[in-house]
Formats: sequence, C-alpha cells, structure tokens
Amino acid sequence: MLIQENVPLAPFTTLGVGGPARYFARARGVSDILDALEFSDLRHVPIFVLGGGSNLVIADRGFPGLVIKIEIRGVTSQADGEFCVFEAGSGEDWDTFVAHTVDQNCAGLECLSGIPGTVGGTPVQNVGAYGQDVSQTIRSVVAIEIRTGEIRVFSNPECGFAYRSSIFNDGSRDRYILTSVSYRLHTGGAPSISYRDLQLHFAGRDNPTLVDTRNAVREIRLSKAMLIVPGDDDARSAGSFFKNPVVDCKAAEFIAHIADQRGLPLPTYAAADGMVKLPAAWLVEQSGFGKGFCAGAVGISRRHSLAIVNRGGATAEEIIALKNRIQQAVFDQFGIELKPEPVFVGFER
Ligand SMILES: Cc1cc2nc3c(=O)[nH]c(=O)nc-3n(C[C@H](O)[C@H](O)[C@H](O)COP(=O)(O)OP(=O)(O)OC[C@H]3O[C@@H](n4cnc5c(N)ncnc54)[C@H](O)[C@@H]3O)c2cc1C
Repeated sequence: MLIQENVPLAPFTTLGVGGPARYFARARGVSDILDALEFSDLRHVPIFVLGGGSNLVIADRGFPGLVIKIEIRGVTSQADGEFCVFEAGSGEDWDTFVAHTVDQNCAGLECLSGIPGTVGGTPVQNVGAYGQDVSQTIRSVVAIEIRTGEIRVFSNPECGFAYRSSIFNDGSRDRYILTSVSYRLHTGGAPSISYRDLQLHFAGRDNPTLVDTRNAVREIRLSKAMLIVPGDDDARSAGSFFKNPVVDCKAAEFIAHIADQRGLPLPTYAAADGMVKLPAAWLVEQSGFGKGFCAGAVGISRRHSLAIVNRGGATAEEIIALKNRIQQAVFDQFGIELKPEPVFVGFER
C-alpha cells in the first residue's frame, strides 16, 4: 500500500479548507487498513479515517498523523421475504448507492437521496433527512477495531443510534473503521412522504413512486444548496453546521414566549422522553445571522441559514471564528448552546 506524505486535505472535503496530512493512504480493502494501522503503530502517529469529507472541518495546520481514505467498494443484495438486504462497501458513494436501491424498487433510503459522502459515513452520525434516517434501515455494520485489528459485526441496536449520533461518534468514537454496512429495505414498498416539504411538493398528486420521491428530494435539496453542484458556492459547506437543539419543555416555553413577543412563529418538534426539538436555523436567523450573511471569505449560504460556506479561499480559522460568533449570539439571545454537527480534525494540541 502506498503511503504518501504531506498531502493537502482541503480538496478531499466539501468545505474546502484545511492543511495537509503528514501521511496519507487509500484503503481499498481490509488488508490495506491493517497495513495502515501497522504503519501508524510503528511511527507512533495518530490516524484519522476519511470518507467523502462532507462532514469535516480540517485545521489549517492539517493533521499530524496518517489519514486513511476509505475506498472499499462493492454492493451485493439478497432477497429476504418481502425485504431485500443490500450490503455496501463503506467507500461506495452514498447517493449512487441510494439511486441503485431506488432502481431496484426498494423503499427505505429514498428520502436520503442527494446527501454527499460515503456509505461508511452514514452510520457514524445516523444520517437523516426528510423524515428518514439510516437507523430505520441499517441491519448491521462491519468494522475493524483499531486497537486490535479484529473484525466486529454490530447489529442495529448495538450501534446505539440516536439523533445525529451512534456509538461511532459517541462512546466508541475513533475506535472502529467501518468496512461495510447492510441495509434492509422493503421491496416494492411505498415511499415515505411524511415530511412537510415533500407533502407540499406532491400536493394534489396521487401515489408518487420511489423514483418520483428521490427526484423531489434532490430538487428540494438543490433549492436549498444542500445538493453539491460544481461551481455553486452556496454548496461549498459541510451541510448543516449546527444540530437542532433538544431542550426540556420549560426552555422551549421560554423561547416560544420570546418568539410570541417578536410575532414570529416558532416551529417545534416532539423529541424522545418529553423533550422538544427546536429548529437551529430559526435560532441562528433570529440572532442576526440571516441567509447570505458575509464575513470576508466565509458566510452563510444564501439558500440555507444553517450552512456556513467557504466563498472562496477561506481558512479553517475564519470558519471557526464565524461558528463561535453564531454560538455566542444564540447563547446571549436564547441561553441555548448550539452544538456543531461536523467533525473537527487537527485542532487538538
Ligand atoms: C451539502 C451537504 C448536505 C448535507 N446534508 C446532510 C443531511 O441532509 N443529513 C445528514 O445527516 N448529513 C448531511 N450532510 C453531512 C454529511 O454529508 C454526512 O454526515 C455524511 O454521511 C458524511 O459522510 P462522509 O463519508 O463524507 O464522512 P466524512 O465527512 O469523511 O467523515 C465524517 C466522520 O465519519 C467518520 N467516518 C467516515 N467514514 C468512516 C468509516 N468508513 N469508518 C469509520 N469512520 C468513518 C470520519 O472519521 C469522521 O469522523 C451534508 C453535507 C453537505 C456538504
């Protein structure tokens, strides 16, 4: 396996910021990963696992260890009664894989069309959009334990899925490298049209198909710059930069009271255990950071108030400065600490 040195990482990310990797390797199979782990052990350097780079902010000074870019390919499928189980290599492009499952007339991932990144990135933060998330369909995840090199298979409950979270970005963060993921999809199943944007899109139309739903999701995402299109600087982002905060009823009532005073409706959503999910986009906008906000080479997308964008030539430092400003403003106005969604790489001292 080829190990390169001082490889710029910004081009491997959708945000396009960050410095080089001290060492860089492409893993096309399990044996490449084991070789890479041996290399990092011998050199005593940390590793970072890179998928499609769509949920990352990489520090300007780069990463001081070995970046392993996952390029494990291959998709197989097997019928299981009225379901079909697809097993995909973790380096498969996510949207191409979703298109394949929709072509096979299998329901369960159609609302996750157009999300950038790899298959292996989806269990990590339990990717979700338009009423679906992968915790609803993942059957199992195969991973290599970094410390021992052993292969482990995780069932769905063992992945510990929650909103934008799993054991892979929480309790067992940086412990495993995912090599493949299995999804159990409903053959001939109806598309999920539970989300308001999709209901509006299909208003007055009967029985949209899985293909219709995939196309609609991509169209809606394009209108919000949440579909990556070359040359669209509103899409040079890491997607939504902040998670929707989940608060108790008392905090939600307090914010709703402020919203009432301002004469602005506050959409809220029920979350687990009687908690309430608030729209981070609303909080960001109401704190003075509207769509199209600009601060030098960084800003907020003109089409999505949760996306911090690189308008061209931005540094990670500028991205972090804007993130901090937004978090501080939301805290000052509403007493809520917004949690970032992307992963920060190379910032540790
Ligand atoms: C325009 C845009 C729109 C987006 N829309 C959405 C959305 O609607 N919903 C949503 O949930 N997310 C969204 N995202 C965020 C992002 O696309 C997802 O989180 C995606 O799944 C990240 O996958 P990736 O392969 O790019 O991972 P990366 O960004 O490369 O890595 C993210 C994290 O996953 C880890 N990782 C990646 N692959 C592996 C592996 N094989 N083994 C172990 N760890 C791994 C990395 O180490 C890192 O910690 C969006 C991003 C952009 C830029």
